[in-house]
Amino acid sequence: MFYDRARIFVKAGDGGNGAVAFRREKYVPRGGPSGGDGGDGGNVILVASPDLRTLLDFQYRRHFRAERGRHGEGKNRHGRSGEDLRIAVPPGTQVRDAETGELIADLDRPGSQAVVARGGRGGRGNARFASPQNRAPTWAQPGQPGEEKWLLLELKLLADVGLVGLPNAGKSTLLAQISAARPKIADYPFTTLEPHLGVVKLPYFRSFVVADIPGLVEGAHLGAGLGHDFLRHIERTRLLVHLVSLSPLDGDPMENFKVINQELALYDPPLTGKPMLVVANKIDLPEAQAAWPQFRDQVQQLGWEEVWAISGATGQGVEGLLERLARLLEAEERTEANGS
Ligand code: GDP
Ligand code: MG
Repeated sequence: MFYDRARIFVKAGDGGNGAVAFRREKYVPRGGPSGGDGGDGGNVILVASPDLRTLLDFQYRRHFRAERGRHGEGKNRHGRSGEDLRIAVPPGTQVRDAETGELIADLDRPGSQAVVARGGRGGRGNARFASPQNRAPTWAQPGQPGEEKWLLLELKLLADVGLVGLPNAGKSTLLAQISAARPKIADYPFTTLEPHLGVVKLPYFRSFVVADIPGLVEGAHLGAGLGHDFLRHIERTRLLVHLVSLSPLDGDPMENFKVINQELALYDPPLTGKPMLVVANKIDLPEAQAAWPQFRDQVQQLGWEEVWAISGATGQGVEGLLERLARLLEAEERTEANGS
């Protein structure tokens, strides 16, 4: 399985100190103790938010501190408690103590939350310690320190978009061009070929995960190649991008397109019902530009409405494609949310 990982440091707020103070009143030579309590420190709370899909944000920010409690003051004024710090993580995040490896929380669904570091308790002011034996205590409790620790966040990633196409179609090149981060791949059962994941981060859209599925070749549906197992991954994606090279060096694009479609259909007919964008690649080449109009028309005649032309190498046309994918993913999600 694929995991996205992050290590973060969390520190809950310290408790405020209790105050030592005495009343000063007219005509009362020596007032009683009036030191207020310190406020409690804020907790650090992780919350699973449906708006997040990856742990990418934690590559940029790793340290999190909740607010401390204010100290107590004279006239029995208690210090205000520190605000809790709520940190959004994607649903499916597991939280471990980075030192011990102990599982602290499994935030498996949107809205799940867990206190991962407790704020320190505020200290009591000297007013609390007055007793018949000591009517004017001159000491107060200090606040307790807030908990602090390193956490290991782990997210099981499911790809949103599966990238299919024959070897040399340009899948790896495109993935490198579009992804902001390449998460580690752990425990993947295949050693000779690895599916590659990229996290795409666009302004104004939630980030999404693209899987480059290598090894999809003729015969994969028979389980002969590794492609079979990769197909199981695409099964879970919401969208497919079918990349076809228009370079004459890579053979006839229509033939190549059909080979992959047959594989998808033979493996599992429902796969062919998945929304799929057809993307002609290597459009930076003059030969590809020449082949493009005919390819587009033929693909559309076969019933595929959306056909794009890009160059994964130069980036031409890629931004528009990514935005289109982001919008389609959002639309898919809305449909799912309404359907359930
Ligand atoms: P994959 O097998 O589908 O992962 O394809 P690769 O990304 O490894 O690319 C195969 C070959 O095509 C490599 O030599 C790339 O440099 C080349 N290539 C990939 N994308 C483009 C492109 O947009 N334009 C051109 N001219 N070459 C490309
Ligand atoms: Mg590749």
